[in-house]
Amino acid sequence: MYEMIIVGAGPAGISMAAEARTVGIPSEQLLVLEKGDTHSWAIRKFYPAAKVVLANYKGIEAVCAGVMCISDMSKEETLTYIDRTIERYGLSVHYNETVNGIRPLPAGGFLVATSKGSYEARRCVIAIGILDKPNKPGYRIPVSLNKCIHYDLTSAVLENEECLVVGGGDTASEYCQYLVEHGNRVTLSYRQTEFTRLNRVNYESLMALEQRRQITILRGSNIKQVEEDAAGRARVLFEETAFPSQSFAHIVYALGGTTPTNFLKAIGIAFDGSAPVIREGYETSLSGLYLIGDLSAGRKGGSINLAFNMAAEAMQSICGQSAGAQ
Ligand SMILES: Cc1cc2nc3c(=O)[nH]c(=O)nc-3n(C[C@H](O)[C@H](O)[C@H](O)COP(=O)(O)OP(=O)(O)OC[C@H]3O[C@@H](n4cnc5c(N)ncnc54)[C@H](O)[C@@H]3O)c2cc1C
Repeated sequence: MYEMIIVGAGPAGISMAAEARTVGIPSEQLLVLEKGDTHSWAIRKFYPAAKVVLANYKGIEAVCAGVMCISDMSKEETLTYIDRTIERYGLSVHYNETVNGIRPLPAGGFLVATSKGSYEARRCVIAIGILDKPNKPGYRIPVSLNKCIHYDLTSAVLENEECLVVGGGDTASEYCQYLVEHGNRVTLSYRQTEFTRLNRVNYESLMALEQRRQITILRGSNIKQVEEDAAGRARVLFEETAFPSQSFAHIVYALGGTTPTNFLKAIGIAFDGSAPVIREGYETSLSGLYLIGDLSAGRKGGSINLAFNMAAEAMQSICGQSAGAQ
């Protein structure tokens, strides 16, 4: 039986493993399971190439509590920092191994079932984030438009095109900046009239683009329908008469992600409304089972340093429990 199994090798999962090594859990009693072929799948997929990774993302102050911490750095530097952590702490990470389910064992501990087998662990930490299934719009989009619809900017190269970005958070702002830099003509559709969720850098960058007329912002716009026009482009129809229908070569949705509720409920974790019940140290209603990172960040969303800090807090709580039991 492993001392600890960590599900997900993103910032939360890797920092949890580093914290565990720091308090003396040997490498061979610690296992990280990651469904991607490398760590930090979400960062690689959703961060545009030249993105500056902000330490104070979404205004969450970067006061570092544990062994991992980032300052403002590039996407590549962030990934290298996580590479080095894996190396430095001798972490055992199984890649290309998806966790399909976790079952509490009658005598204590958990059975972790994966795409390749099963493992037992005394404690289990779920750090799978919320970006596995990005939120999609409520209206139907014709299948013939699939090549025009995007949920990230790494799966296709968009250059010198007419693009619509949908959303109003930091991701939407960063996507607009990236698309403008790559010669696209960009329109942003946001259902609210004010950008209240953006951090200062992203707010100022977006406003500067608008002032320089490098972007058109449709504030208070709600998309009613997307259909294919005669040229095979996406024609967007808005609820509001103020916004006439318009065709775009590409639509990029930046609508965030969702908590994998079914996965968590199937394990037996108690929920309070739509959110899992989280106790001290990010422990769930099942003793020995923890949720950290974006999964526990709530509606405001998470950040890398917040994920690192959650790992440190969870480990402190585990150490406190172990000391109390002795
Ligand atoms: C576009 C964008 C820009 C951002 N910019 C910043 C920024 O500048 N600064 C900042 O601090 N934060 C930023 N964030 C937020 C930050 O990326 C997240 O808060 C952080 O990645 C959360 O880490 P996590 O480990 O909880 O989840 P994730 O990073 O989502 O990692 C989860 C990991 O679990 C794996 N996984 C999922 N399901 C399974 C399964 N069933 N079995 C095994 N493995 C699984 C995934 O493949 C993934 O590797 C940004 C987010 C986005 C989308």
